[in-house]
Order: sequence, then C-alpha cells, then structure tokens
Amino acid sequence: MTPAKRKITVLPGDGIGPEVVDSALAIISATGVAVEFEKYEAGARAFQKGIVTGIPREAIQSIERSHVVLKGPLETPIGHGNRSANVTLRTLFETYGNIRPVRELPGVQTAFTGRQLDIVIVRENIEDLYAGIEYMQTPGVAESLKLISREGCEKIVKLAFAFAIAEGRKAVHCATKSNILKLTEGLLQHTFEELAPQYPSITSKHILIDNAAHQLAMRPEQFDVIVTTNMNGDILSDLTSGLTGGLGFAPSANIGNDVSIFEAVHGSAPDIAGKNKANPTALILSAAMMLRHIGEGKAANDVEQAVLVTLESGIRTSDMMGKVKAAGTTEFTQAVISNLGKASKLSPPKKYAEVELPPSQLGVNVVRAGARKVTGLDVYIESDLEPKALASDLETITSSSSLKLEMISNRGAMVFPSSDRKVSLVDHYRCRFVQRDTTTKLADPEILSLLGTIGGKHRWMHIEKLQEFDGQPAYSKSQV
Ligand code: NAP
Repeated sequence: MTPAKRKITVLPGDGIGPEVVDSALAIISATGVAVEFEKYEAGARAFQKGIVTGIPREAIQSIERSHVVLKGPLETPIGHGNRSANVTLRTLFETYGNIRPVRELPGVQTAFTGRQLDIVIVRENIEDLYAGIEYMQTPGVAESLKLISREGCEKIVKLAFAFAIAEGRKAVHCATKSNILKLTEGLLQHTFEELAPQYPSITSKHILIDNAAHQLAMRPEQFDVIVTTNMNGDILSDLTSGLTGGLGFAPSANIGNDVSIFEAVHGSAPDIAGKNKANPTALILSAAMMLRHIGEGKAANDVEQAVLVTLESGIRTSDMMGKVKAAGTTEFTQAVISNLGKASKLSPPKKYAEVELPPSQLGVNVVRAGARKVTGLDVYIESDLEPKALASDLETITSSSSLKLEMISNRGAMVFPSSDRKVSLVDHYRCRFVQRDTTTKLADPEILSLLGTIGGKHRWMHIEKLQEFDGQPAYSKSQV
C-alpha cells in the first residue's frame, strides 16, 4: 500500500504571495517528497468576501488536520477588519516562537560580505505589546499593556536553546531592556539566566537590546542565536535581514505546540505583484525550514543547496540585479529546480538534528508565591491641577482613610512630594496610596472606599494594587 502523503496547508496570500508560494511548491514537488498541498484563499480577498478574520473556516479546519502551514504574506485591508489575519493565525494556533535565520548568501552583496554572518533571531511571538491591549486613558494619553509571562519566557528560552543544539550552534544571547523594564523585560532575563545552566554545551550571555543593535551594526559575526521579546525581536530581525541582503532573503518559522507556520519575513510588495519580479528565495528557504520540521531533512538540505548553487551561478532576481540582466520569479524557480541534487561550492549542507520542542502545558499555568500581601494602591487620575494642589486636595479628602498619599508621578517622573524638578506635565497623574498602619492587612473594602472618596471629586480611570510577593515589591518605583 502506498503510504499516505503528508498534508500541508498552503495560504498563497496577497500581492507577490501567490508567485513566491507557487515557486516554493514547484521546488518542493521537484524534490519528490510525499506531500499533498491543501490551498486556501486568505487575507485581502477573504476580507473582501466578508470573512472578518481574513481566514476562511475551511482553511482553519485544514490547519487543524495538517498542523503545518506554508503561507504567503497576508494584507489586512483598512476598513474590512480590525485585526491582522497574521496576528489571528499566530494567536489562534499559539505559535509562540518566531525563528528568523539569516546568513551570508553567495553573490548577495552587502556591507558585510565576506564576514560569513549566520545569525538566528528567536522572537517571542504572542505576548508583549503585540497582545495589542490598548486604552486611551484620557483624551490625550494612550496606554498599551506590555504583558510578559513566566510561562512565555520559559517556552521561548527553551526553544532558543533547543534550536541552537539542533543546529550545532555555539552561543545564545538573550537581548532585553531589563535595565529600564525591570519586571517585564527583566522576567525574560531572569528566566534565561535560570535555565541557561541546563544547556552546558552552549555559551549563554545577556545583552541589553540597544547594545545588541549597536553590536549587530559593528561586529555582527559575534552573534549566533539571539532570543528576545516580541517587539524587540520584530525590530532586530528586520535589522539582521538588512545585514544579509534584505527582505527577499529572510525566511521564518512560527513554532507552536500543535501547529507551525512557515513564511517569508517580507510582506505582499504590491508594487511588484503579478510582474514576475518577486524574489522567491525567502519563501523557498522558509519551505526548506518546513521540510526539516516535518522530518524531510534531506529534501530540506537539497533545497537549500540548490538555492546556493543558483545564486553562485550568477542568476539574480531584479532586487539584487546590479548590472546583470535579472531573472524573473519563474526563471529563478526553474534554475533552483535544475540545481536540485547539486552541492554548493561555498557552503556545504549543515548538520541539523530534530528540534526538541518544549513540552506543551495545558490548563492554567500558575506561578505561586510563598507569601503575598497588598500594601497600597496606585490610582490614575485625570486632572488639570498642579501637583501640589492635587496632592493637597487628595490629602484632605482621604484624611480619614486607612490609606495615605505617598507620592504622585507624571509620566513616570515624581512630582510630589519632591517638587524641585521642573517637568512638563500632562493631565494624567499616578497617585500612590499606601497603608498608614503597615501592621494591618489591607482589604478590598478599604480600597473601594478610597476610590469612592476620590471619585466623588476627581476623574480616576485606572487602578493598580501594590502587591508584595515573598516580601519583594511587585511594582516599579517612580523616577525621582
Ligand atoms: P513589503 O511587502 O515587505 O515590501 C517592501 C518592499 O520590499 C517592496 O516594495 C519591495 O521593494 C521589497 N520587497 C519585499 N519583498 C520582496 C521580494 N520577495 N522580492 C523583491 N522585492 C521585495 O512591506 P510593506 O510594503 O510594508 O507591506 C505590504 C503589505 O504586506 C502590507 O499590507 C502589510 O501589512 C503586509 N505584510 C504582511 C506580512 C505577513 O503576512 N507576514 C509581513 C509584512 C507585511 P521595491 O520597492 O524595491 O520593489
């Protein structure tokens, strides 16, 4: 009996998507692997048909069966849907890790040519500011919640080390902004430093994200794998794409517990869509990552080698043409197909092993504290009063409360009780109240009573409890 073919869901997407996806599919088929493609429309055309997510139900059902997606770029047309179809896919299938490898490619001239760059960004893919939880707190002040979980940090750190081991890499850097964002970015740093000793064969080092950007521009060859939070990874991975030839060459894998999605980093490039001009390399290399993911390591190596041989032979798409006559998407594809089975002169196939993905944890993941207590409350107040006048009024109206005003800050800078510094103010204050008697337990009725008192005179729009976990403050101090 002929073995069943492995199903792959294909979303050609928008703009140049169908052209580059067709190129990758033709090359996969030419390798002879036993796969079957299930193609679905998604993105702009789906939105136009009134599918609010941009992803038709049949496509979602296909992904649930296949667990693997090869996709082109998806556009989110303005006025047809609020949420990006890409973000919907990532969240629906919880593809928590985005792996973006870049390397020096033959004939792709950059400022770093000859330095053999080979860097992988492992980006957390679903948390951070990209959860997109935003509010206008006042008509003039916007807020975005940066949520980082211990669970999310563990998964991305384990994925980065597992990927480094599978690829025989030497070092993992963790890039964060933990010097400023001590609790959120700091959580990734601490998780990384706690887990790194479990991988003694890999050198591990924390680096601040701004220094990482500087070092990538100055001495990028020092980096191997970099693990980072969602927004930092978004920016850093475009930077590394730029170091090695641009978006046309940057593949990616979105790894989840159950479903993984493979796509180029670039978008739909509508300016060159339908003109047979798009460079399909990024999507072809994404397809090679997919083949490796489904256990077709030889086919993956064959595809990568054929791309290298094609570039070595001087065949160029228009984005990298220089003075040479450019090949169209289809000619480039044909050249790669004809080079399947040939070995690159410059870069032999790498030895890859299967990536041991961190086990998935179902249910609610809980981090417990031995001891915890609430010690106060930050109340966010919209007011056009000067800080001293606001403080005086709050002190008066809360004089009989069990909580007392400790400080007021404006955009993070303390403006009360310290008033020496001149800061430009907006009508958005954080007013910190703490217990008068720290030996007693602060309970919700006292907090609600305080809010009632304040709300009788001032417009408050947001509160945060001040908590201590195991004796440690679980909130940031204000800048003095
Ligand atoms: P883009 O589509 O990546 O294109 C930017 C420019 O890069 C293009 O105009 C083109 O420049 C060049 N380019 C990109 N890919 C190329 C390729 N394969 N071959 C040759 N040149 C290539 O970025 P964008 O214009 O910001 O975004 C366009 C749409 O794509 C937006 O709707 C966006 O939301 C969507 N998008 C989707 C994804 C995704 O699905 N994952 C990712 C990013 C953007 P030239 O001017 O040199 O031709």
